[in-house]
Amino acid sequence: MKEKTLSIIKPDGVSRNLIGKVIDCIENAGLKIASGKMIKMTKDQAKGFYRIHEGKPFFDSVTDFMSSGPCIVMVLEGDSAISKYRELMGSTDCKQAAEGTIRKLYGTDIEKNVVHGSDSQDTAAFEIGYFFNGLEIMAF
Ligand code: GDP
Repeated sequence: MKEKTLSIIKPDGVSRNLIGKVIDCIENAGLKIASGKMIKMTKDQAKGFYRIHEGKPFFDSVTDFMSSGPCIVMVLEGDSAISKYRELMGSTDCKQAAEGTIRKLYGTDIEKNVVHGSDSQDTAAFEIGYFFNGLEIMAF
């Protein structure tokens, strides 16, 4: 089933010049980039984005990180795009991530793991709507 998912190249990926490499992985996996832009989140915007993690011990740290510099936010589209992109990213902790995944290749720790991807259809709908309006998203 054709799906849309939200991808973020996090501030560590942008500052380490990994934008092209991440996009290469995405395109090589057969996913289409239906929209994309560079943004810099405020701390409050990062807290809103990661609101499901409010109260967790890493909430303050991850929202500091996500608001520390520019990110690339993208809408990806393709067959089973949500699970396909999660698989391509690898486990949250790059040390546990499978060989060949983006996080294994480029991540440095459990927090600075280069990329974000939505984990369900409901999350994808919320996360895409958080950064994009419908007119900004290409239809393939
Ligand atoms: P994801 O869906 O694989 O990105 O993982 P989660 O939704 O569980 O966590 C969101 C983000 O918070 C992760 O991608 C990491 O950047 C960060 N994070 C998750 N767990 C930890 C942790 O135990 N410590 C720290 N410092 N950051 C974490």
